[in-house]
Amino acid sequence: MLLVDGHLDLSMNALEWNRDLTRPLDEVRRREVGKSDKIDRGKGVCTLPEMRRGQIGLCIATQIARYVAPDNPLPGWHAPEIAWAQTQGQLAWYRAMEDRGEMVLINNKAALSKHIAIWQHPHRPANAPIGYVLSLEGADSIIDLSYLEKSFAAGLRALGPAHYGPGRYSPGTGASSGLTPAGRELVKEMRRLGIILDVTHLTDDAFWEALELYDGPLWASHNNCRALVPHQRQFSDDQLRELIRRDAVIGAAFDAWMMVPGWVRGKTTPVETGCKIETIVDHIDHICQLAGSARHCAIGSDLDGGYGTEQTPLDLDSIADLQRLSDILTRRGYSPTDIAGIMHANWIRKLSESLP
Ligand SMILES: [Zn+2]
Repeated sequence: MLLVDGHLDLSMNALEWNRDLTRPLDEVRRREVGKSDKIDRGKGVCTLPEMRRGQIGLCIATQIARYVAPDNPLPGWHAPEIAWAQTQGQLAWYRAMEDRGEMVLINNKAALSKHIAIWQHPHRPANAPIGYVLSLEGADSIIDLSYLEKSFAAGLRALGPAHYGPGRYSPGTGASSGLTPAGRELVKEMRRLGIILDVTHLTDDAFWEALELYDGPLWASHNNCRALVPHQRQFSDDQLRELIRRDAVIGAAFDAWMMVPGWVRGKTTPVETGCKIETIVDHIDHICQLAGSARHCAIGSDLDGGYGTEQTPLDLDSIADLQRLSDILTRRGYSPTDIAGIMHANWIRKLSESLP
């Protein structure tokens, strides 16, 4: 079954991890043997061939680059201009993937429906390009609002103002307080341009503030439930109810620390917790119960978000394993229509309503 993944950091993996995602997964892993500069060296789970094997024909793919002030201990770039240049390098990689026929930019309704028809055709070519909707995770790299317009012209269709820690436009995970003055302007300018608001990573204050300022289409690309994993990174039931009321789609994230409570990054192992692919169904089910339907649930795996098999469900070795979710949902009593919604149709509906 076609699977749409609402959150992947493909170009970050290409540029910062130096991963050639056109190559087979075992080859990408082998080239990292002996490297220790990143926690997930040799443990990645996502390449373009694996996405094809898992029938992931469309994803929301990010550009991402954080600005850090001198007192910010998080990894990042020392000036917004450097962060901007990093995102432009990431964009150049996506463009090169398009030139190779590996990927195709989906930036309007017509491109979306054409692409979905290809992927749902019974005789689709085995090497059909993977569609990507261009998104920006954390807005630090937007030097000023004129750069948002440039980004939109380059195909940017969704933006999450925050990531981790303090941000130029919004504080994110692990930080507190609301949007910055520039962040308030950013959200208004997004509305004017028609850029979808991704509320993932916003602090609670920034979340409510952004929803008040912005009445356009929104989603949470990769978010689980605070009721099951008590941490600010997850959404409270009040936040989820508001997202449901605004007809948002919420992508379930497969980062194990967001799936099971009490995970200590770099210490806890998947085996210790028993975290499996099926564990995500508890989060999906929680949102379905709040909504009274499966209309708002989808997948935003984040499976290449700076971690690998040391922090994924223990029965997941490749992003292609996400395909097993359809059988798991069947076993858990979901109807074929609801399963199709979660696997792809909810993202497609939201995109077809929201893209220009
Ligand atoms: Zn993220």
